[in-house]
Amino acid sequence: MTTYAYALGEALYLNLTSACTLACVFCPKIRDDDWVVGGYDLRLSRAPSADEVWDQVLRAGLAGRPEVVFTGLGEPTRRLSVLLEITRRLVDAGVARVRLDTDGLASLREGRDVIPEMARAGLGALVVSLNAPDSATYVRLCPNQYGEAAWEAARDFLRSAAGCIPDVEASFVGVPGLDAEACRMEAERLGARFRLRPYDRVGRLKEQGGNA
Ligand code: SF4
Repeated sequence: MTTYAYALGEALYLNLTSACTLACVFCPKIRDDDWVVGGYDLRLSRAPSADEVWDQVLRAGLAGRPEVVFTGLGEPTRRLSVLLEITRRLVDAGVARVRLDTDGLASLREGRDVIPEMARAGLGALVVSLNAPDSATYVRLCPNQYGEAAWEAARDFLRSAAGCIPDVEASFVGVPGLDAEACRMEAERLGARFRLRPYDRVGRLKEQGGNA
């Protein structure tokens, strides 16, 4: 069965797309063509509708889930309307915490600040993969069509989120040579908590469920 929702531990993870805006050099799907997370093959041949995702959410069950997370091996905000719709349904269903793991480029792609829409839908936590303390390092680690402007856009996204999403983190993959202290300072400047993620196990940590 195609995997749109998958449980790891008590949390439930949602996989809305295989498409990305970045081609991160440390990503298992880019580096190793490895799409398996926690035993689930997350490669999708097409993007699911909100109802198709919701059907798998209900089948997995929501009772006792401390958290539901949009993640996977694709960028969830590439399916923004589905993400917002599922967030509303999860909040209405009483889920304690809805989290989004993201590249932080949704506002750049959409041409408007989408953080207020996420806040209105009830998103409770955001983890933005900033991945670098400066734009040159970012482009080297996360090649993309926007170039260095993408790093600035992810920072703007974090700044906007810090004002209206309850829990905001900036995450960095600890590739060899990364200046972790500079990353910490950058996260704190943006009003976000700092998270350093292990390099070799990106996408394979049970508690992460994926690494968008
Ligand atoms: S690390 Fe995340 S954003 Fe980067 S290519 Fe992989 S899934 Fe996409």
